[in-house]
Amino acid sequence: MQPSSDSGNFAPAAAQAEFWQRYVEDFRKAGHEAVDWIAKYLSELSDCPVVPSMKPGGLVDALPASGPVQGESFDAILADFNRLIMPAVTQWNHPRFFAYFACTGSTPAILGEMLAAALNTNGLHWKTSPAVAELEQVTLGWLRQWMGLADDWFGIIYDTASTSSMHAIACAREMATPEARVNGSHPNLTLYTSAQSHSSIEKGAIAVGMGQANVRKVPVDAEFRMRAGALAALVEQDVAAGLRPCCVVATVGTTSTTSIDPVPQIAAIAEKHNMWLHVDAAYAGPAAIVPEHRYIFDGVERAHSLVVNPHKWLLTPIDLSAFYTRRPDILRRAFSLVPEYLHPQQDPRAHDLMDYGVPLGHRFRALKLWYVLRYFGQEGIQQMLRSHIAMAKKFAALVDSGPEFERVAPVPLSVVCFRYKGTDDENKAIIESVNATGRVFLSHTMLNGQVVIRLAIGNLATTWEDVMEVWTLVKDAVKSKISNFKF
Ligand code: PLP
Repeated sequence: MQPSSDSGNFAPAAAQAEFWQRYVEDFRKAGHEAVDWIAKYLSELSDCPVVPSMKPGGLVDALPASGPVQGESFDAILADFNRLIMPAVTQWNHPRFFAYFACTGSTPAILGEMLAAALNTNGLHWKTSPAVAELEQVTLGWLRQWMGLADDWFGIIYDTASTSSMHAIACAREMATPEARVNGSHPNLTLYTSAQSHSSIEKGAIAVGMGQANVRKVPVDAEFRMRAGALAALVEQDVAAGLRPCCVVATVGTTSTTSIDPVPQIAAIAEKHNMWLHVDAAYAGPAAIVPEHRYIFDGVERAHSLVVNPHKWLLTPIDLSAFYTRRPDILRRAFSLVPEYLHPQQDPRAHDLMDYGVPLGHRFRALKLWYVLRYFGQEGIQQMLRSHIAMAKKFAALVDSGPEFERVAPVPLSVVCFRYKGTDDENKAIIESVNATGRVFLSHTMLNGQVVIRLAIGNLATTWEDVMEVWTLVKDAVKSKISNFKF
């Protein structure tokens, strides 16, 4: 769709106004249809397969190799979305998506995201959009209070936990070696994180130039928590060798088992050696909103930074990662570099978000989080978190009750790690055959050198019947294993 123009260059005002009117009306009609489409999708999702059955390249081959020369109608685009795109979508919103960290996009967040896209406002600088800077401060403040953190934490939204943790590691480098900003990373800086921590921590060390060889993977105990004694020994050893320990990353809710590192003991070691302590609570953080699970944040008040991902377990569609630090001065020192055309704000209440990280541009992500926090409220969120944790514990009890399966890790939150008491190949075959039904989606992990089945509960729509379906399918897979499994 485009305005008609006599000159071939630009349209006269009347033609432009007429075009704009048609353009907006076209959107109004298609927008209503899109919202109807979303409502139907959400109400019928449970009947769809969770994982698409397609071969790699299937969508690329089905779409034209080059873009359309003439614009197309919304009807044509939506028809192809239904026909071609949807069959290639893995349904992360599905109530029986139990893989990785199951999550939930929610209707208020969809509306918040739509309004943010409509505004297309860029909060790089306070003045380029005061709403972006100030709503981010407000929503992260609410979330901080709900998680029981004091008000000396500064919050900023990045895209993912990987980006948040990379910024934490850059702060650690800045605190230890301020000259690194100019001269590049000091070759002797070392970072410590558990053998169960997320790969994003090692990637962060790569990104800031600390180097993979300087990342120490601290051994874990029988419950997959960092061994504080082993951390202390590794740090002492490195100090004795003339290295410069500068960062510890503790995980509250590890990716495989949701184990919780002993943050108070780790904090004591970090304090003794003047190291930056970052806490990766990307998945588990929201559980601190529930009073009886607040203990997961014991010791976090002593950390320098913390990441919590509302796009994992807080009803917010990807992407939205909340990064908190008690040392915004160091974050700013590490990253502020103001181009001439953007004068810094003089008012202390006006934050220029571009000063607190790599990106200049800043999406209005806070709007969808604001919608979520207001729509569900603290109690609604607590109710969802409690129900996921209760279902996980009930499933764990089922696993424990039979002779054929074993549980391989404690269940503090909403993930159950278990295995059939057979070979690794048999466990892999169980996951494959259960997923092939299209009814559920499970993923695996490796613990103590063995393949383990992982059930992660995190979707707002998930019921106990959905969880029971997993149990039935897993048991059916075991029953038919002798005749059908192909190893
Ligand atoms: N930290 C933990 C504990 C995770 O489990 C994950 C991903 O599952 C990440 C970090 C990375 O998250 P993101 O995809 O937001 O970078």
